[in-house]
Amino acid sequence: MTTAHRFASSVHRDRLARAGAEASERGVDVLLITPSPDYAYLLGYRAPALERLTCLIVPADGEPALVLPRLEEPLARHELDDLQVALVPWDETDDPIRLVQAIVAGARRVAVQDQMWARFALRLRAALDPAELVEAGPTMSALRRIKSPEEIERLRAAGSAADSAMTSVIGERLSGRTEADLSRHIRDLLLEAGHDDAGFAIVASGPNSASPHHEAGERVIETGDAIVLDIGGTRAGYSSDTSRTAFVGDPEPEFAALHAVLREAQTAACEAVQPGVPCSEIDAVARGIINEAGYGDAFIHRTGHGIGMETHEDPYIVASNPELLREGHAFSVEPGIYMRDRWGARIEDIVVCTDAGGERLNTTSTELYVVE
Ligand code: ZN
Ligand code: ZN
Ligand code: ZN
Repeated sequence: MTTAHRFASSVHRDRLARAGAEASERGVDVLLITPSPDYAYLLGYRAPALERLTCLIVPADGEPALVLPRLEEPLARHELDDLQVALVPWDETDDPIRLVQAIVAGARRVAVQDQMWARFALRLRAALDPAELVEAGPTMSALRRIKSPEEIERLRAAGSAADSAMTSVIGERLSGRTEADLSRHIRDLLLEAGHDDAGFAIVASGPNSASPHHEAGERVIETGDAIVLDIGGTRAGYSSDTSRTAFVGDPEPEFAALHAVLREAQTAACEAVQPGVPCSEIDAVARGIINEAGYGDAFIHRTGHGIGMETHEDPYIVASNPELLREGHAFSVEPGIYMRDRWGARIEDIVVCTDAGGERLNTTSTELYVVE
């Protein structure tokens, strides 16, 4: 809840107008947006998602309105000053569902924010009957999946903050520390480097490195361990996410060979990025190299995910996604190879699709880091 994350009011006014236009194009009469990244994207501030209903109403045609509890009116007034959204505060004894119902009366297709609490969605469905309720996700994603230059600037700043945390930790002695201690330390480094919150710091050592979403635990890092570090957070409302792999002591040749294949795959996938290339093709480039080297069964996840205000969002870099890359798409390229109970490796960069190809927002070396 800070104004520091807002863009100029004109940007948010434009987003509201485009949301209405996009809804209209999709045959949606009105969008109901509860507190969420979609809400913050449109209005420029994060409202708390609570048991009291806060709901931004964006009609396909007409002016937006914000139904909100009276006690949140000062916050909204402060954040929205010149945004031209009509505020409709409700008192503790009012039924906010009735207020929404009155404003959207007559709408036939109503799109609700994907993360709206079921208690609100179900009551709205009953109150708005016979209107059809659909997901607002496709409409909002159509806007959010293409990043503006200012958004890319924020992703770049978040990426370089994550890089600086990664560079620090990779230069330290890692053996003798527990995964959990190292994870806490990395979160401190993420904050010191300028993140507003240190979202996650996966530290997966030894056999745990074969588990892509391992939860850092009490295992003590020792010589001979592979370590996957996957770290990120948010800075000024935008996310970072990067992974590197290290080896404690001289890397075993078998692991070095595995990592070399992975690095080749990750590099080739990043280099394949350009407008007009299907998302599925980026996945196929990485997977092809890993398959060819005989590790196909060990690459057990998609190649990447879009990133922006959320760490995982559209577009997904997966074999089932035929969507063509466009300028302004931002996503991870993060193939991994995992040999169960033994070791694993992952390399992850955030890449932006530009007219000149892929631009990496993470610029630390993708080599296998040899650490003590
Ligand atoms: Zn992940
Ligand atoms: Zn990651
Ligand atoms: Zn990721």
